Amino acid sequence: MHTLLPTSIVGSLPKPSWLAEPETLWSPWKLQGDALVEGTQDALRIAVQEQRQAGIDIISDGEQTRQHFVTTFIEHLSGVDFDQRETVRIRDRYDASVPTVVGAVSREKPVFVEDAKFLRQQTDQPIKWALPGPMTMIDTLYDRHYKSREKLAWEFATILNQEAKELEAAGVDIIQFDEPAFNVFFDDVQDWGVAMLERAAEGLRAQTVVHICYGYGIKANTDWKATLGSEWRQYEKSFPLLQQSSIDIVSLESHHSHVPLELIELIRGKKVMLGAIDVASPTIETPEEVADTLRNALRFVDADKLIPSTNCGLAPLSRDLARGKLRALSAGTALLREELTGVEV
Ligand SMILES: [Zn+2]
Repeated sequence: MHTLLPTSIVGSLPKPSWLAEPETLWSPWKLQGDALVEGTQDALRIAVQEQRQAGIDIISDGEQTRQHFVTTFIEHLSGVDFDQRETVRIRDRYDASVPTVVGAVSREKPVFVEDAKFLRQQTDQPIKWALPGPMTMIDTLYDRHYKSREKLAWEFATILNQEAKELEAAGVDIIQFDEPAFNVFFDDVQDWGVAMLERAAEGLRAQTVVHICYGYGIKANTDWKATLGSEWRQYEKSFPLLQQSSIDIVSLESHHSHVPLELIELIRGKKVMLGAIDVASPTIETPEEVADTLRNALRFVDADKLIPSTNCGLAPLSRDLARGKLRALSAGTALLREELTGVEV
């Protein structure tokens, strides 16, 4: 990738209202069978077109073919019973009814590989594909079989590695693992979380990302953020471990957050996907605000390692708002590129 400050979204974009109820997570599909396959492909095409029109450099699928970033992947695995449900506390924050692990988990066929091939056909730009991370996966399940968070995470890491290798073969340039759970379970991150990520990424030639955030802009998350105080130092626990890891890129939340920027110093040497767009605010950032957020980070990350991005996924937003935020990300990045190179781009 030769563009200075290549822009990218974290993952999800809103779905069209003919495909799923807008501005809702876990929204049920409005289509079924072949019509659903065609509908998700059409939505994926639109997601690509909207990113390109907005000037985004690294293209994602906008998660148009999945209902939810964790659940949809797990639904494709065997060993998990979606009819046996238990209520558990997710990320130590809110209760949810979740499926049960009833036997050995395995991936009997590829989950997203056909979707990734379809995305590859839509653009010559670099493409990125997001998968859930092992710790975040186990946090959305009740485990009756392994009875060990670590053992179940290891099985998922192995499965993710199989999927990631096939995504790479399908032409995916960057593979991302979403691990919001890294901001909650610090002892697990230390004991096995990073090792599981490395297992999931083992042997890949594609660049690898870990995305660690404070969640979608939904009420449970904004309420939680309000309890975190004036300085959010959660990254302080995982960043030194990630700096030592084989993962290439760290995606973090920044704009409008209380994350002290100097924490970025802890991952010096890694590429940094910096959130310059607030996914919880209904206001579209100005290009100047985006440029300021990115410029401030340059004290702790070299410009050639900075990837301007969003704080998290945009799924719960209206489509108009999401489009506006994509354009703001590009426009703000263009301002900074111009400052850094002296060339209008
Ligand atoms: Zn996120």
